[in-house]
Amino acid sequence: MTSPVWHPYAHLKTQRPAPKVIGGKGATFTLEGGETLLDATCSWWCMIHGYAHPRLVAAIREQAGELCHVMLGGLSHEPADRLARALVRITPAGLDHVFFSDSGSVGMEVAMKMAVQYHQLQGRPGKHRLLSLMKAYHGDTAGCMAVCDPEEGMHSLFAGYLPRHHFAPAPTAPFDAEPDEVEADLAALREVLQCHHHEIAALLMEPLLQAAGGLNMTSPHYLRGARALCDEFDVLLVFDEVATGFGRTGRMFAADHADVTPDIMVLSKGLTGGYLGHAATLATDRVHDAFVGDTPEHAFMHGPTFMGNPLACRVALEGLAVFEEEDYLGRIADLNRVLCETLLEDEALAAHPEVADVRVLGATAVIEAREARSLAGVGDWARDQGIWLRPIGRWLYTMPAYITSEAEMRRITAVMKEWFLGR
Ligand SMILES: *Cc1c(COP(=O)(O)O)cnc(C)c1O
Repeated sequence: MTSPVWHPYAHLKTQRPAPKVIGGKGATFTLEGGETLLDATCSWWCMIHGYAHPRLVAAIREQAGELCHVMLGGLSHEPADRLARALVRITPAGLDHVFFSDSGSVGMEVAMKMAVQYHQLQGRPGKHRLLSLMKAYHGDTAGCMAVCDPEEGMHSLFAGYLPRHHFAPAPTAPFDAEPDEVEADLAALREVLQCHHHEIAALLMEPLLQAAGGLNMTSPHYLRGARALCDEFDVLLVFDEVATGFGRTGRMFAADHADVTPDIMVLSKGLTGGYLGHAATLATDRVHDAFVGDTPEHAFMHGPTFMGNPLACRVALEGLAVFEEEDYLGRIADLNRVLCETLLEDEALAAHPEVADVRVLGATAVIEAREARSLAGVGDWARDQGIWLRPIGRWLYTMPAYITSEAEMRRITAVMKEWFLGR
């Protein structure tokens, strides 16, 4: 009998039975039958410590013996308090308040509601729409779908169901652009703000790396310019660091490259090292203090059942300790060197007729094909070489776990290259 499990993003007619994973260790996982695959994606970018990390597993076991769950409505507990303090310490200065939720999408929903209510409480109820960027991906719930790329994104089918927001063009200047090279991108952003700022509550972006929308990378100057524009037009700046947070771009947070503090920042994926679903929406005093007041409208009406789950908070704290004690930023720099050397500096790859672009940022690398059909079958082929790769559309990428060894990283990039050059 076929399994009753309904898989995501799959064509039910053509999909083949999904192989069963029975365990994992480090950067690899093992399938029923003994096949072992080196994971180039760290399970949708969240398993940054790899599989079965002994310290993370021990932290969950220990916490499970004390307290698995309790509601955060009217109650608190040590893991939530400690994690909130730790997040305030490591995030850009000024993000001093932490609202927990259970997934990246919900963390973004919280951010958007917070931004709209903020303006309501400031006496500007007309600012109830959002400004997002083309190529954006912010999650799969309704509110998030409405701020994903409305054309190329995967949610165009739901256009009639979703609220309408504003979109600015995706930034085009590369990561290492000079300030004058981002001027056109910022001018396009300014144009939308100039026309519509009276109804815009917040500008949302995945800073530096638009991940699921095609691994589009841009410059820290763009983030600084966006910050200035938001201040000019009284629009809150929301950084969705669900994918970029916890080292993916080479610094702890993408915001750190630009020395910018957003008004609201959302973290998930790497937050718990993928061991449990959780998210955090951080806010500055400016946002938080607007909610201090006497009317019923001042309460923030959101409260996911599992917000601040003790197991999730505890494993997040342990993951953060490992991150700092084991110099993950140094490891990420090492991985980055291998990615640059093996992919970015490969002239044959860059010159290949099916390759449109090769980009690297931190522990992220992508080979962008000109057409999606160039990548048809790459997943199965890579699996035969012992690598788990799962391209998105035209983008063949790796976002490895940070514990991936140099030899493993080279195996991954060799297989990515061979698909184009060596088969
Ligand atoms: C994955 C992702 C989300 C959604 O997170 P979920 O936990 O899958 O709901 C939101 N924003 C970005 C940038 C993401 O990469």
